[in-house]
Amino acid sequence: MAKTTSKPHADEAGFVTAKNNHRTQQDNVLYDAKDSGFEEAEGRWVVFCVAHGSVAHETNQKRARKLLSTPETWCGHCRTLAEPQNPVSNAPLVPFALKPPEDQERELRFAAMMVKDNPEKIALFERVYGVKPESYWADADAVLIRR
Ligand SMILES: [Zn+2]
Repeated sequence: MAKTTSKPHADEAGFVTAKNNHRTQQDNVLYDAKDSGFEEAEGRWVVFCVAHGSVAHETNQKRARKLLSTPETWCGHCRTLAEPQNPVSNAPLVPFALKPPEDQERELRFAAMMVKDNPEKIALFERVYGVKPESYWADADAVLIRR
């Protein structure tokens, strides 16, 4: 497929912006569902993976713009491309700050459990997350007792 212009989607209805997807060498495009043909019910801002035809909806344009840079979080095919081909290669990680609150909470609880009884790991936990793991231990115990 030949590239005719640098912004091949700019003339399309509802086009907001696009970002090149370095894995597919094609664009991820942000559309305003109001002006494009997309369904608006799940969120006005629509990100589209041109290479794979995947879409994701966002209610917030700022967050939608961020999604353009992280197609592996919403396009299954891009996720496969992002997976390490061998155990030593590094897959790009979703930054902690960009994860949904419930995922952040789960990660903190899990990580807190892993560092229990190890002063060095506790120090590392505090450095990585900026909070002490102690408060999450209490929660984790409560979860275990409830079962
Ligand atoms: Zn994709």
